[in-house]
Amino acid sequence: MKVAIIGGGIGGMALALALHDAGLADIAVYESALAVKELGVGINVMPHAVRELAELGLLDDLAAVGIPTAEFVLYSKHGQRIWGEPRGQAAGYRWPQVSIHRGELLGILHRAVLARLGPARLRTGHHLARLGQAGDRVRAEFVDRASGAAVGRAEADLLVACDGIHSVVRQTLYPDEGPPQWNGVTMWRAVTEGEPFLSGRTMIRAGDFGRSVVVYPISRRHEERGHALNNWVTLVKTADGRPMPAQDWVHTARIEDALAPFAAFGFPFLDVPALIRGAAAVYQYPMVDRDPLPTWDFGRVTLLGDAAHPMYPVGGNGASQAILDARVLARELALQPSIAAAVAAYDAVRRPATAAVVLANREGGPERPLALVEERAPDGFANLDDVVSREELEEIARAYKRTAGFDPETLNNRPSLSVRTATGDLLQAGTPPPA
Ligand SMILES: Cc1cc2nc3c(=O)[nH]c(=O)nc-3n(C[C@H](O)[C@H](O)[C@H](O)COP(=O)(O)OP(=O)(O)OC[C@H]3O[C@@H](n4cnc5c(N)ncnc54)[C@H](O)[C@@H]3O)c2cc1C
Repeated sequence: MKVAIIGGGIGGMALALALHDAGLADIAVYESALAVKELGVGINVMPHAVRELAELGLLDDLAAVGIPTAEFVLYSKHGQRIWGEPRGQAAGYRWPQVSIHRGELLGILHRAVLARLGPARLRTGHHLARLGQAGDRVRAEFVDRASGAAVGRAEADLLVACDGIHSVVRQTLYPDEGPPQWNGVTMWRAVTEGEPFLSGRTMIRAGDFGRSVVVYPISRRHEERGHALNNWVTLVKTADGRPMPAQDWVHTARIEDALAPFAAFGFPFLDVPALIRGAAAVYQYPMVDRDPLPTWDFGRVTLLGDAAHPMYPVGGNGASQAILDARVLARELALQPSIAAAVAAYDAVRRPATAAVVLANREGGPERPLALVEERAPDGFANLDDVVSREELEEIARAYKRTAGFDPETLNNRPSLSVRTATGDLLQAGTPPPA
């Protein structure tokens, strides 16, 4: 079975590794960029996705680079603490939550693809322009993205769209869908080198849905030197009277634009204005997603990651859900009797699961308490219990974990998605996966 993977981002690389691990060898990854560059800022790999990367033998690489996030804390715009919970192994998971530079995460996956599959399986400079199905084969045509010149064609038994939020494959399958939907929130994202704050492994979000900041450290190398590389994102509702900002991942902005709304965020535990001023480059991005799709099952073509379910970056699940997609699709392709049955099974499991996360993120996900407190006590509070009960806060945190698939008890006890036995042998089609 020949599988063409369109896009060598987090999802495409994870799929290549998952397929290889599942014994599927005839794989090619077609990436639009001329080289795999380690772009981006911070990203989270939640315990449910770390489990999958650990089962693919990548836990040590992740741990050497990223920070095992130990707690997640919410503060109001006045710097009053609303909620705090342990994260990762501190919360009883068998796997850590890893906060990491997206480029370094991509680098880990990329190096593993080169080492395990060989460099010939990765075709950079191949931007998918067109695809079509004829009988049991999928045909793809590639161009050089800059010049538009044809660079080649490919045929495969299955084509998986891992081509991100502006997916050409999705546009082909759903021609009337249009661009991603913007909720009017603009995000400024950057990293700043500095001192550790709170536990040194804490992730915070402070503010409300209209104006807030997320900060977490992402570098083990910095931590070992007693420093921190703090990733930050400021989010401001800017829709009124301002055009939608550019939608690519490398659009830079002025530091002053990110700074202005946060002048009052000089909290005792973290001086947010100083953090913003300390960034070397700031990237601007609109908070966008797309509606869940009625199907990802197009016989010999399917979708994965942001191409399938772009979501607001709330709750740290974008990359994690792409990694889970990859593992489930690989398992189904290895165990189902046909490609059609595998794609149908993948669609049946992953589409509703990720649709629920897209919708939960629109409601603020685990960060919804910020909106509740802003609504009920915009000028601050003397006693948090008068504003929101402990039970309400606990239920928001628990419900999101259930929705996104990282409820600790369920995750710790669910069977592996691997198709290998404890001794490394591959299971045969028709056998249930190991516990
Ligand atoms: C350059 C870049 C920087 C990012 N930075 C961050 C960040 O800092 N923080 C964060 O939370 N998320 C970031 N993301 C998004 C994040 O990686 C995804 O939300 C998530 O990891 C899901 O991964 P994905 O593989 O589905 O999509 P992506 O990681 O976006 O990967 C899509 C890949 O497909 C390639 N591609 C696109 N169109 C075509 C085509 N027609 N033919 C072939 N290849 C194509 C792209 O070049 C890219 O490599 C970034 C994405 C990119 C592309």
